[in-house]
Amino acid sequence: MTAPQPLIAGNWKMNGLSASVAEAKAVAAGLGQTPARVAICPPSILIHRLADALKGTPVLVGGQDHHWDDAGAFTGDISAEMLADAGAKLAILGHSERRAGYRETDEVVAQKVSAALRAGLEPIVCVGETLEQRQAGDTLAVVTGQTRGSLPADLRGKAFAVAYEPVWAIGTGLTPTLEQIEEVHKAIRATLVEQFAEEGRKVPILYGGSVKPGNAAEILHAAEVGGALVGGASLKAEDFLGIIRAL
Ligand code: PGA
Repeated sequence: MTAPQPLIAGNWKMNGLSASVAEAKAVAAGLGQTPARVAICPPSILIHRLADALKGTPVLVGGQDHHWDDAGAFTGDISAEMLADAGAKLAILGHSERRAGYRETDEVVAQKVSAALRAGLEPIVCVGETLEQRQAGDTLAVVTGQTRGSLPADLRGKAFAVAYEPVWAIGTGLTPTLEQIEEVHKAIRATLVEQFAEEGRKVPILYGGSVKPGNAAEILHAAEVGGALVGGASLKAEDFLGIIRAL
């Protein structure tokens, strides 16, 4: 079976104002030939603007999170359908900043994944261990447990990605060794095949956590790495393009 097409997605988190639309346009303008699918996931309030600005370019727009319900009395929340309506094609779900900061469990993440599918969004489902869990030797158990628990059966036949993001590598400048990345990605792949049979081999497994132009080439070429989820280095077009060109 051929390897899945790589996906490189930028997660702007709670960064970006109107002026940042220019940065997204610069990514599209500088993209050139790449084997990857490229996406930018800005705060939801900018999705419409980015979708308009990137129309006719290969750069996709994604959301960062959404509610598990389709609509209703949820003050301050946003639905998957709203993201799709604004022009998003993907959604980052289960990010550790949501799991830790908003106490999102695997069950909640799985419900959000189902909501994404109902809205026609492609979920990027994040998993990853804390430093304490790694030091306790629990990394593979935590990550495969999160993978199993966060991926509902209705993903069968649908496009989605998994992102391995060690919590201790996010925004810290620290990255696991290539051996550590490959070990975890192989364990995630085995879990995907266990859950989705042969279809599980087609799911890109992204690496995320302090990916920069300087370390992107070795990470992106590691075994079972099918792209990257990029936080800080996706905010500047030049850095994000540097990562994309490393593929
Ligand atoms: P970082 O964030 O690249 O800034 O470490 C990655 C992420 O949280 O998706």
